[in-house]
Amino acid sequence: MKPLIVANWKCSPVTLKEAKQLFNSVARGIKNIKNVETVICPPFIYLPILGVSAFAKGFGGLRLGSQDCFWENPPTGGGAFTGEISPKMLKDLGVKYVIIGHSERRRHLKETDEMINKKTKAALLLGPKPILCIENLSQLKAGLRGISEKVIIAYEPVFAIGTGKPCSIVKAKKMRKSIKYPRVLYGGSVNSQNAKNYILEGGFQGLLIGGVSLNSQEFLKMIRDIEKI
Ligand code: PEP
Repeated sequence: MKPLIVANWKCSPVTLKEAKQLFNSVARGIKNIKNVETVICPPFIYLPILGVSAFAKGFGGLRLGSQDCFWENPPTGGGAFTGEISPKMLKDLGVKYVIIGHSERRRHLKETDEMINKKTKAALLLGPKPILCIENLSQLKAGLRGISEKVIIAYEPVFAIGTGKPCSIVKAKKMRKSIKYPRVLYGGSVNSQNAKNYILEGGFQGLLIGGVSLNSQEFLKMIRDIEKI
């Protein structure tokens, strides 16, 4: 199983021009990467534009993910849910993964475990592969209630997200061991110095990267290092 490196751009960059530059620079940089699966999760609004541009330029190696999706999944995949994006729409655009339950959505948008569980189920049914973000085992259990499939999990301790204070390898490794799922990513203040350790020593199958993914040079350095593992 190749390490999965997922870039969460959050609400950045703020112009399409910058988004295209960043995306194209990563896409070019990973052209010869064979042993790492790289995914960019830009804001929704850029997804179709970046997807088409990557396709047109032959940057086939880079995959697209989204940062969220809606939970209702009626047979048509759409309906009267103003402002929402359905998993079916994402799948139709070629989006391969969807981040669900990020701690910033839990905090700022008051997403509950129940909503997150419903989103995970909706994505499993019709959409891109869900990446369920959790910071403890109770969120893991609640997010996966009624789900028997092996979902990709991202362990993201909140104290480490965007703070420059990564979780120690010892603590992360302990948590990895207690998540009995085949594919678990680590996220929280990952940079090109510490990235490899979470995979080599921590036992994770990939990384979820916020801040550093907005710097293409740092991000690519990390991917090249992981390619060599
Ligand atoms: C994240 O937002 O998922 C994240 C891990 O952010 P950062 O890498 O900036 O800590």
